[in-house]
Amino acid sequence: MANQLTEDTEKLLPQEAVGISEPLGEIAFSLDDAPMPSTAIFNGVEKTERIIQALQDANCPAVGIFAIGKYAHTPTGLKRLHMYAEAGHIIANHSYSHYKLNDITAQDFIEDIKKAHEILSPLPSFKLLFRFPYLAEGKDEVQRQEVIQYLQSMGYREGYITVNNHDYYMSKLLVDAVKAGKIIDHEKLKNLYVSILWDCIISVDKLSHKVLNRKVKHVLLLHENDLAALFIGDLIEHIRKQGWKIISIEEAYEDPLALMPVTNTYSLVGRLGAIAIQKGLDKKLAVFPETAEYSYIPRALKQQQIFKSPVFNP
Ligand SMILES: [Zn+2]
Repeated sequence: MANQLTEDTEKLLPQEAVGISEPLGEIAFSLDDAPMPSTAIFNGVEKTERIIQALQDANCPAVGIFAIGKYAHTPTGLKRLHMYAEAGHIIANHSYSHYKLNDITAQDFIEDIKKAHEILSPLPSFKLLFRFPYLAEGKDEVQRQEVIQYLQSMGYREGYITVNNHDYYMSKLLVDAVKAGKIIDHEKLKNLYVSILWDCIISVDKLSHKVLNRKVKHVLLLHENDLAALFIGDLIEHIRKQGWKIISIEEAYEDPLALMPVTNTYSLVGRLGAIAIQKGLDKKLAVFPETAEYSYIPRALKQQQIFKSPVFNP
């Protein structure tokens, strides 16, 4: 990890010195499952306010807010989505109930998309972008096509991702630790969050060169959770320090990747990963780096003593 960062930073410096402005990579941010419920750390409104403020402080281009209809149906839910819209961010459809398509019929799933569309489409910055909950695109190609044809008939484009990770799991572990009265080392937690996400970004980026032989405009999947509310500004700063550019979600979806046919269903590896597997790359190579695996997160939290029990005097 440390070596990787040093390497990338060194690559950047000579470029800066000669004033070459081409970034080493480009990435847009997306926040799923908004407006997420309150937790023991932040209430919902606080969380949204913090994220918007951090994005504004970093002068971050429009992020994609992939909203869940049922969360918008809460007393402050719709207001929070309006806050994102007013701050210039894009609101998109992530279904009403957050069902996994693989578990229900295509028709029930379509009804659920419509229900979310009714609530979300009047928002001022709403765009016809849809992201499958759990990135699950159906149990087979027939089911997937039924939903995709409906989406196309409505004018929706797919709000795909290229960089997946387990930020939701790490955020859950943080909330559990706070509830258990642990003392949180925020500096170490920030470094772990940022380094895991950076690892995920560069590992997928390598895949783009390997499979497509070019740079792609990436889309990072994050959730509207407490970790984002704490550290999204630090993440942006880190990515920029590596010589990368943060782009708007709409610019990211202008990449030709958006038009490449994908047939995989239930691809957690994102669009590039799905294309890589379609092109015959071993599935294991298309998935996450070791640091992004579920088991790595609790292990690193423990090893680095990020959540500590309060010290009691003997
Ligand atoms: Zn989701």
